[in-house]
Amino acid sequence: MSLKDYKRKRRFDVTPEPEGRDVKPAAKKPEHELAYVIQKHQATRLHYDLRLEWRGVMLSWAVPKGPSLDPSMKRLAMPVEDHPIEYNTFEGVIPEGEYGGGTVMIWDRGTWSPEVPDVNEALKKGDLKFTLHGDKLRGSWVLVRTGGWRGSSGKPSWLLIKHRDDFISTRDVTIELPRSAVSNRLLADIARANNGDVEKAAAGDPATTVAARPGAKTKAMARSPKRKKPESRGKRTSASKK
Ligand code: MN
Repeated sequence: MSLKDYKRKRRFDVTPEPEGRDVKPAAKKPEHELAYVIQKHQATRLHYDLRLEWRGVMLSWAVPKGPSLDPSMKRLAMPVEDHPIEYNTFEGVIPEGEYGGGTVMIWDRGTWSPEVPDVNEALKKGDLKFTLHGDKLRGSWVLVRTGGWRGSSGKPSWLLIKHRDDFISTRDVTIELPRSAVSNRLLADIARANNGDVEKAAAGDPATTVAARPGAKTKAMARSPKRKKPESRGKRTSASKK
């Protein structure tokens, strides 16, 4: 567990992301509740960064399609570099051209608890069962490492799967609950407030997908009245042009 990769990839005089303190030697048994966060990140591609606090850092996986409450849906989860705990409160815009350039939303947050006696062993084995206590996601989940496809990182991919319990559903939680858990904003709102690329951010908000079909009016649009204002459909601001 180290922030070496995290720090190496970022220029902290350019990005508003937190630099993070040095990781303290970790206690074997955590004395506090372990933090959990999912950041929805509209970078080159939209993905959801699942982060679980462990030994002084946030273990992180990028989940391109986001979590599914349907146990039959296995969601690809690519391991990414450990992030600092301070990252959990970051919601804003990473400048274009920087690592991960784009808009970041705190999509869900809360705590997690391991369902295994030894988390280090579970991580080594590639089979981590855990419970989420978030605003949007609850109940039992598993992250399981596959022998299959390796991403650009060269690390094997994992799968994020919902376990069967009272919290399963076939409803698409990423579409039905697209807003920030801390600010209730959509990606486009966050981009607009932080001088980001509003058009690019809006492509990650579900209402945009719907709005692309002329005449289609859905619940998602009705819940997002801001999206109907002219400025949210407008051209990029000069600041966001490449
Ligand atoms: Mn990301």
